[in-house]
Amino acid sequence: MAVKGFNPYEMAQKQFDKVADLLQLDAASRELLRQPLREYHFSIPVQMDDGSVRVFRGFRCQHNDARGPCKGGIRFHPQETIDTVRALSMWMTWKCAVVDIPLGGGKGGVVCDPHDLSAREQERLCRGWVRAIAKDVGPLRDVPAPDVMTNPQHMLWMLDEFETVHGAKYPGFITGKPVGMGGSLGRTEATGYGLVFTLREALRELGIKVEATSASVQGFGNVAQYAIELYTKLGGKVLSVSCWDQSDQASYTYRKKTGINLKELLMITDRFGGIDKSKAEALGYERLPGEAWIEQDADILIPAALENQINAENVKKIKPGVKVVAEGANGPTTPEADEVLKQRGVFVIPDFLANAGGVTCSYFEQVQCNQNYFWPQEEVLDKLDQKMTAAFLAVYELAKTRKLFMRDAAYVISVSRVAGACKDRGWV
Ligand code: NAD
Repeated sequence: MAVKGFNPYEMAQKQFDKVADLLQLDAASRELLRQPLREYHFSIPVQMDDGSVRVFRGFRCQHNDARGPCKGGIRFHPQETIDTVRALSMWMTWKCAVVDIPLGGGKGGVVCDPHDLSAREQERLCRGWVRAIAKDVGPLRDVPAPDVMTNPQHMLWMLDEFETVHGAKYPGFITGKPVGMGGSLGRTEATGYGLVFTLREALRELGIKVEATSASVQGFGNVAQYAIELYTKLGGKVLSVSCWDQSDQASYTYRKKTGINLKELLMITDRFGGIDKSKAEALGYERLPGEAWIEQDADILIPAALENQINAENVKKIKPGVKVVAEGANGPTTPEADEVLKQRGVFVIPDFLANAGGVTCSYFEQVQCNQNYFWPQEEVLDKLDQKMTAAFLAVYELAKTRKLFMRDAAYVISVSRVAGACKDRGWV
């Protein structure tokens, strides 16, 4: 999705270049890793319910598959751009590598607004996307998943089309399927819980008790809701959340000094993570401008909505009491803002580590599909905790011993693993 004046691919390349310098990567490895290995651009003709045909633009980027098949979601968004898909495919490579799962990075998208499409039209679009690329994806090549405005139903239509094209059952082709149709228990909670597993470890290392902390959260969708659930269960207090208001085309921050009540807010939240403003006010929430989430007197900030949300303009608004930024969204902090956070000694849990719970659970889904045996939810979440904790500690140890910023340490681990795999295969 395009955010005006901000190019996520340029940001992803800038972050990569910095680590390539740090690692003194050779020229060929740099060239190979700073762009996708392959990208597909295609048109998808879809018959609409009224008999007319609309042609949608589709993409798939396979950034790197040296460590295993590419993995990454498919976004449906009217402002989808190839540069966003490129950046996200690159971040997926680093994300899979930092949690050490045997997968590479990919991402896909379709320029469309599913709000304007009937269920049947969406089904034809999903099937068209798969037909356009069926020969270049698959359980051993590239495994898609849901992302912005795509859901388990879309994944099931895509799986069905893939199996129709190839004439066999391939449950490991796609993840994020409905539970009971090859989906994994725990996937819905995985990203938010995963973020809190890393936050819990960070606070432990910093010698701060979770119960003594408060947080301000940007976003109130899948990631934010489950992060809030687990964080409050551990004893933390969430002071405010922000979300997008579709009717006003604006964002708002909802604040309660005594702490928000997740259950009551969920009752007045739509499926897109939008809170009903008048009901929130009736429940005693203050309604502040959307940007206010960043300037709260909290110990922890959790950006869990969009990219480019902590930037050179607003980073100065972060209060001195903020000790940790745990990034739920992809690319929420720009490199310029990173520098400021670094100088101020704010502990940042970088996006591709903090939000890797989703892809880790998708990997578990693939493993369960391959075994044709599904684990109970508790087992999935236990395994997730182990993976996230181990990944966090590896990054933290490196950051400590080499005196690196957490994002740089995470990059050093990921890029070394991926560059090493490319070398071991004899690619460079
Ligand atoms: P979602 O669609 O469920 O929720 C998004 C939330 O952000 C909604 O509450 C929406 O109202 C809010 N929002 C949108 N624009 C906003 C604005 N300008 N200001 C404040 N709030 C705004 O999405 P999600 O699945 O929770 O994902 C959130 C972020 O996390 C995205 O960057 C996504 O790429 C990333 N992510 C998600 C997963 C996952 O498993 N869901 C995994 C990794 C990364």
